[in-house]
Amino acid sequence: MEGGGGGSGRRVAAVGAGLAGLGAAQRLRGHGSLRLLEAAARAGGRVCTRRFVSGLVEMGAHWIHGPSPENPIFCLATHYGLLGPEAAREENQQVEAGGHPPLPSVTYGSSGRVLSPQVVNEARDLFNTLLASARAFCGSEEPPAPSVGQYLRMEIARRVPALGRGEEDAQRLQLAALAACLKLECCISGTHSMDLVALEPFGEYVSLPGLDCTFPGGYSGLPDCMLSALPEGTVLLNKAVRTIWWQGSFRAEGDEARDFPVRVECEDGDTFLADHVIVTVPLGFLKERHQDFFQPPLPKQKAEAIRRLGFGTNNKIFLEFERPFWEPQQQLLEVVWENESPLEEPSANLEANWFKKLVGFVVLQPPEQHGHVLCGFIAGKESEYMETLSDAEVLSTMTCVLRTLTGNPRLPGPRSVLRSRWHSASYTRGSYSYVAVGSSGDDIDVLAQPLPEDPKDPRPLQLLFAGEATHRTFYSTTHGALLSGWREAERLNQLFEAPGPAPQL
Ligand SMILES: Cc1cc2nc3c(=O)[nH]c(=O)nc-3n(C[C@H](O)[C@H](O)[C@H](O)COP(=O)(O)OP(=O)(O)OC[C@H]3O[C@@H](n4cnc5c(N)ncnc54)[C@H](O)[C@@H]3O)c2cc1C
Repeated sequence: MEGGGGGSGRRVAAVGAGLAGLGAAQRLRGHGSLRLLEAAARAGGRVCTRRFVSGLVEMGAHWIHGPSPENPIFCLATHYGLLGPEAAREENQQVEAGGHPPLPSVTYGSSGRVLSPQVVNEARDLFNTLLASARAFCGSEEPPAPSVGQYLRMEIARRVPALGRGEEDAQRLQLAALAACLKLECCISGTHSMDLVALEPFGEYVSLPGLDCTFPGGYSGLPDCMLSALPEGTVLLNKAVRTIWWQGSFRAEGDEARDFPVRVECEDGDTFLADHVIVTVPLGFLKERHQDFFQPPLPKQKAEAIRRLGFGTNNKIFLEFERPFWEPQQQLLEVVWENESPLEEPSANLEANWFKKLVGFVVLQPPEQHGHVLCGFIAGKESEYMETLSDAEVLSTMTCVLRTLTGNPRLPGPRSVLRSRWHSASYTRGSYSYVAVGSSGDDIDVLAQPLPEDPKDPRPLQLLFAGEATHRTFYSTTHGALLSGWREAERLNQLFEAPGPAPQL
């Protein structure tokens, strides 16, 4: 089948119906037709709400980071009536929390005891201070280290004598708690190690004000609402794109009058001719496939930006228990492996130690809705290794881990498990992007640059690039993804609305 819609207006195709693709579709004006081609059987991409036990769980995005009027996800969700009354409160939107609301927590140590909140808080305060100082090197000519991880470890090493007031056991425990903080930061940055995250551009990421909030009816409500506001037939599901041919001259069968510079070829053999294609596929997919996905291949500068930017894995493990082993007021169960230190290399034996990368568990609230469900977070190669295990293997490892942490060898294990597997997902290949060592915010801008590069090309904007990884200050977020889609739609709107060349007489 050859498609693309009729009419003599410009034909636009978009690849990917995540928030970037849906956002572009929402904002595009004045085109002759638009087709949004999505490989999966659903829209939403890395926004993916699933049913688990008696409630809803988020396999991908969970929070609106910085729910305030500058956040377009917050505004859109409010417009569609998808948020609870707490998120809508003005005071909530003004809090400068720099992230998640602080939850009542308990920290388990690997010796099977609950650790002193004072020790844990001291370590966390120090870590947060150091992390804030890491953000201050933005624009610096000579940052003190190439990576955030190296900088943090250097600063921690300098402070060792003062840790735990010089007392050896207390010092060891503080170092172990700092190692746990580093692992949490790996989840937030979506990376295997903070040693991979570039120090100088780290502060370019912008946190919006507002206490992070969630969608009571599931995050997927947002892409669902966006999808249903589009004209029917705009989004084609199960339509994986194999190759995008650009800089060509393609004609539709039976309509030789027009030729199109771009031909989008799908895995099922369908093709779509277009003047413009907005590519919103994840950076992980581009890393793996860009050489054969684009014909001719992308210019060297773009290919290099794709190679240099970081894209790692952060996964969730949902565990259901018959009865909670935690106290009703506890909403966050943190984990510290007491013999670890950020100053020592972590074990590379994934099979034996993958579970030690788990940072802890959020208790899903309220239990009347969810049952007794914990959501664990794990990043990096250990997370990717976890994806290769069976449910039974994960359940049995989690049972052992929780027995160790609680010091209760008879603790009943979880009775069911649900996991995300973002690294194995063929059309994602990881979780979200970060600015890696050797890369910079300029690479994000290069990735976002449309093609052909020559602005005077008579057939401009054949390929446009959107998606979270193309937003210089909000990469890795849903609002970054949405804004990038709006940005590329606006680029095309301006082209469509610009006065055309004077007709040749
Ligand atoms: C575990 C996890 C937790 C997260 N938590 C948060 C959070 O709490 N808050 C937050 O703001 N952000 C969070 N994020 C990040 C957020 O989900 C993403 O930044 C955002 O959803 C990305 O949107 P996108 O449109 O750029 O990409 P995607 O949503 O990935 O959309 C791209 C689409 O392209 C499709 N596609 C790929 N290849 C092809 C092809 N060849 N042909 C056709 N279609 C194709 C994919 O199937 C996908 O649907 C999280 C992500 C993960 C994975």
